[in-house]
Amino acid sequence: EVKTSGKNRYKFFDPAFYGVLQQRQLRESDLRTAIRDGQFVMYYQPRVRTATMEVCSVEALVRWNHPTAGTLQPDAFIPLAEETGLIVALGELIVDAVCAQIAAWRREGYPPLPVSINVSSRQFNERDMHALFVQALQRHDVAPECVEIELTESTMLHDPGRTAQNLQAIHAMGIKLLVDDFGTGYSSLSMLQQLDFDILKVDKSFTRRLGVDRQGEILFSAIITMAHALGMKVVAEGVERREQVELLARLQCDELQGYYVARPADAARVRSDCMQRAASL
Ligand code: C2E
Ligand code: MG
Ligand code: MG
Ligand code: MG
Repeated sequence: EVKTSGKNRYKFFDPAFYGVLQQRQLRESDLRTAIRDGQFVMYYQPRVRTATMEVCSVEALVRWNHPTAGTLQPDAFIPLAEETGLIVALGELIVDAVCAQIAAWRREGYPPLPVSINVSSRQFNERDMHALFVQALQRHDVAPECVEIELTESTMLHDPGRTAQNLQAIHAMGIKLLVDDFGTGYSSLSMLQQLDFDILKVDKSFTRRLGVDRQGEILFSAIITMAHALGMKVVAEGVERREQVELLARLQCDELQGYYVARPADAARVRSDCMQRAASL
């Protein structure tokens, strides 16, 4: 008895645990500062039509230029931003930055290209996302057809009714809705019952299996058949090899995204690369 409580007490005052707490608070205040000072930058990764390899959209992926830690990838700070609620402020910055970028590309003379934005569940709970998009589009004079939204199942799970209503209003404006990471625990069939999605992005764990075993191909083929029957297009995520492109073309997968096609790059590089790609076809 005495031993157990002693152990528990030790656990409670565990200096390592205290260190973790302190570090987390530090990073939370770092994140707050970063939002205030604008330390975030958007990268963009093209998505192409399988048949022609033309770029049909680019996905906005956030990076944090940390003053001492260097460039941080989203997996290093998005979970913390969600946990602390700072994702709401960060999400507003991202939507504004993307709309500003679309307007800048237009001023530079590039033809319009849709940009897809990743949105997490907490943003829908604490912010009227429909109003947020309406305002950002207006502020930068951007057409709704230029913007797409990527969602995972967790977005719909939190408050299915209200979130679905909000998304319906966003969809009605002309903004396309995409299911992200389809086939993982975060995005399943139940999501497709709640809303009319336009595009289904199959998770890279499925793409990775293509050509490795028959199972990968069978699953992919079934997902494509289902999506087409429901009037959705299909994107394969995480395409890294030529053999995958050939298989996906055979399976009638509409669009591709991944390192084989193009890696995420900053705004200046991505549009000039897209133009060169279009010119070389
Ligand atoms: P996601 O939306 O599923 O984005 C795809 C991730 O896969 C990106 O990682 C991308 O760089 C990476 N990727 C692309 N092609 C390949 C490939 O061929 N192979 C492999 N192994 N990976 C590939 P990233 O940029 O680190 O983003 C990770 C996740 O963070 C995203 O997953 C998304 O859920 C989240 N995220 C990124 N940007 C934002 C944002 O602006 N807002 C929110 N709420 N979440 C974001
Ligand atoms: Mg995504
Ligand atoms: Mg994804
Ligand atoms: Mg993901």
